[in-house]
Amino acid sequence: MARFAFFDGRMVPINEAKVSIMTHALNYGTGVFEGIRAYWNKERQQLFTFKLAEHFDRFHQSCRILKIGLPYTTRQLCDITIDLLRREGYREDSYIRPIAYKASEGIGVRLHDLIDGFAIFAVVFGKYIDKEEGARAAVSSWRRVDDNAAPARAKITGIYVNSALCKTEVVERGFDEAIVLTQDGHVSEGSAENIFLVRNGHLITPSPTENILEGITRSTIMDIAKKELRLDTIERAIDRSELYVANEVFFCGTGCQIVAVVEIDGRAVGTGKIGPLTERLRNLYFRIARGDMRKYRDWCTPVYAPGGGRSPKPRAAAPKRAKAGKKTGKIKSVRSRRAGSRRS
Ligand code: PMP
Repeated sequence: MARFAFFDGRMVPINEAKVSIMTHALNYGTGVFEGIRAYWNKERQQLFTFKLAEHFDRFHQSCRILKIGLPYTTRQLCDITIDLLRREGYREDSYIRPIAYKASEGIGVRLHDLIDGFAIFAVVFGKYIDKEEGARAAVSSWRRVDDNAAPARAKITGIYVNSALCKTEVVERGFDEAIVLTQDGHVSEGSAENIFLVRNGHLITPSPTENILEGITRSTIMDIAKKELRLDTIERAIDRSELYVANEVFFCGTGCQIVAVVEIDGRAVGTGKIGPLTERLRNLYFRIARGDMRKYRDWCTPVYAPGGGRSPKPRAAAPKRAKAGKKTGKIKSVRSRRAGSRRS
């Protein structure tokens, strides 16, 4: 259980980080979030966040799409996260959840003329899909949201209704995870993870225009495949039936990490067991993310001072104020917001 949260510009006990039931984002799904992992490295007695700055860069992109003013730079967001993890003192694999949202209280669907809020909390977290031996997947009858309806490129809270419908449908049918198709029937991604296929030695993944979230693990896999296995990834449209004839299929994402898909719609994928390329990528990924490969250490940010002690507090991240007069960039304290809550 988390003990602290960064909320409304300061670190507070978790039970003080509360919003009203009238909050815009709760009523209309107008928030954006991130999911970041931190790995405990027992040998080094160190907690490493993985690709921290990349997640906050994407967070900024999501905010831009949803017109949310975020008064912190990526660097400041990284500092806040490290500070939060140190306060929690986690010595286990953990998960960090930043969320920026339309915080005004009241009725009215829109993105403009609303107050923006921001929070981060972190929890201890293990596996997301508990299927080390491989997941059984099914194609969902729900389709992926389209970029021109609700852009999947942004990690928007409201869009996760689409993910939830897909996931629950297939889980209730007895499968572990959903594969979601685009409106025109191409493979898009899993309910909350990107997807890769191996066909005849080629590594293939849907291109960014297939209504995917442009996953950080996805780009990490592409990088590792190139650098370690000299394998380029082909980004292209993938037909549904290619899923049935692929030699290997795997999901990847911060939450699920890398999970082999061993069955799709009642058909075994390849041999029906985790494939050799998936296995190699998976092993590399875990070694890299846990901070065990020096070559990739700059992808990992240590939380504690070397030697396992707690280093002094990082510089306080002073909020970079959104430009004056910019209606979407206002951040007010909870107290001032409650006092003068605009009808919105
Ligand atoms: N697609 C969706 C819909 C997701 O929610 C996630 C998890 N954030 C991913 C893909 C994987 O993205 P990442 O590797 O950045 O976690």
